Amino acid sequence: MNLIILGAPGAGKGTQAEFLSQKLNIPTISTGAIIRDEIKKETDLGILANGYIKDGKLVPDEVVIEIIKNRILKDDCKNGFILDGFPRTVYQAEELVKMNVKIDTVLSIEVKDEVIIERLTGRRECPNCHSTYHITDNPSKNGTNCDKCNTLLIARSDDEPNTVKNRLEVYHSQTEKLIDYYKNKGLLKTVYGKENVNDTSKEVLSVLGVL
Ligand code: AMP
Repeated sequence: MNLIILGAPGAGKGTQAEFLSQKLNIPTISTGAIIRDEIKKETDLGILANGYIKDGKLVPDEVVIEIIKNRILKDDCKNGFILDGFPRTVYQAEELVKMNVKIDTVLSIEVKDEVIIERLTGRRECPNCHSTYHITDNPSKNGTNCDKCNTLLIARSDDEPNTVKNRLEVYHSQTEKLIDYYKNKGLLKTVYGKENVNDTSKEVLSVLGVL
């Protein structure tokens, strides 16, 4: 199954992608996580991307398209993959078509902006394996370290309030158009994000028809 997860920053795309990745045994491809890795390694791509990410802007289409092109050719994508954070513009979606990638389903996770702002300020991420947590809604077992690899969890620099505001604006002005784009193609399934992560996951399985 080739799946796209759409949603505003903080809607829970990463968490549900991770959950589905384990359930369906297919990898998650998160352009945001790939870019953050490049920033950490201080590669040319990372240095370029950092200028955009820190202001809450989108990284140029050509950069992320190149990342996706290379990543989906890898062996582990043969039986399917979950795209988390790509496409984010109609242009990127059209490029995916040009790559001959057949998308089976697009899952849109809808959450109100007020809830998102509260969520992002409490979000914590593992800088090693990219698992995500929330200080109150979805804490790690000991509250500070990753359950999977025991790395110390951190807050993302782009979860700072002004950057969150910009990211939400970018979502509403550019990415939200993809909801209609995929609805028109008959691929869209919608879930409404719940307060509790497990409740959202149950709804995700139900709309996708996965047992
Ligand atoms: P995310 O982890 O998906 O919230 O992505 C973090 C940041 O990475 C975004 O705010 C963008 O600056 C950048 N980014 C990730 N995916 C894309 C994309 N498909 N197109 C453009 N920029 C992206």
